[in-house]
Amino acid sequence: MPIKPQAMQYQCRQCGWKITYAPLSDALLMEPPDTCDHCGSEELNRQPAGVIDNLLKSISTIVKRK
Ligand SMILES: [Zn+2]
Repeated sequence: MPIKPQAMQYQCRQCGWKITYAPLSDALLMEPPDTCDHCGSEELNRQPAGVIDNLLKSISTIVKRK
């Protein structure tokens, strides 16, 4: 099984803009943001996106079982 690169989610503290940065194993198509793409603020929260994805997956699994 290939190891999935860790995706990170960035969210602006000023306006709530957010983006998920997912590095690919073979090619880097984009760079992680330093500033908000929407308002230009440098105050970005950073957290692993995988936590959220796994949570959503487990929720949808529960829904499918019903
Ligand atoms: Zn912003």
